[in-house]
Amino acid sequence: MTHDRTVDTATIAPARPRCEECQEIKLRRTHALQAGDLRRAELLTAAMGVHLRQAHA
Ligand SMILES: [Zn+2]
Repeated sequence: MTHDRTVDTATIAPARPRCEECQEIKLRRTHALQAGDLRRAELLTAAMGVHLRQAHA
């Protein structure tokens, strides 16, 4: 797997990195970035923020 250095995934790293939903969102975001779909990647970043507040508050 290639790592896109233009986006620092550490900035949205969850408190619990092994959370399945976190992994899922991050994976989908990675795929969106690889597909060049920046809008979808942004939506997933926002979804990650929501998830972190709801599940990891
Ligand atoms: Zn999570």
